[in-house]
Amino acid sequence: MVNMSNTSIFTRIINREIPAKIFHETNQVIVIADIRPKDAVHLLIIPKAEYKNFYETPPEVMSMLDETVKLVAKKLGIEGHFRLQVNNGYGQEVDHVHIHFLSDRGAERLEWL
Ligand code: AMP
Repeated sequence: MVNMSNTSIFTRIINREIPAKIFHETNQVIVIADIRPKDAVHLLIIPKAEYKNFYETPPEVMSMLDETVKLVAKKLGIEGHFRLQVNNGYGQEVDHVHIHFLSDRGAERLEWL
């Protein structure tokens, strides 16, 4: 589907214009299930402010994302067993910065989603 608005698909999820499976949310960040999961756990950690890429994202937002990664890992009980990915231009489909959080463990704690 072509996005005719200026906002990213993630902003439209944040604004509840389109549905998503939401695992965690604060005023600053949302964590959703990736619609095309590449592992048993595949979450997207997305700042609510729409920075286009890694370079545009201020350090304080990166720090908040870092804290969110650790919180998500704790909630899933997999602090020692996960993988992160940030696509910056290369492989980047959505121009709204986000961290992919992947693991082959912890999926049982997502079953309620
Ligand atoms: P990237 O290629 O790093 O920009 O990743 C974008 C990710 O967003 C991909 O893994 C997509 O599967 C995922 N995605 C796209 N649309 C949605 C959506 N509506 N809900 C959840 N995830 C989505």
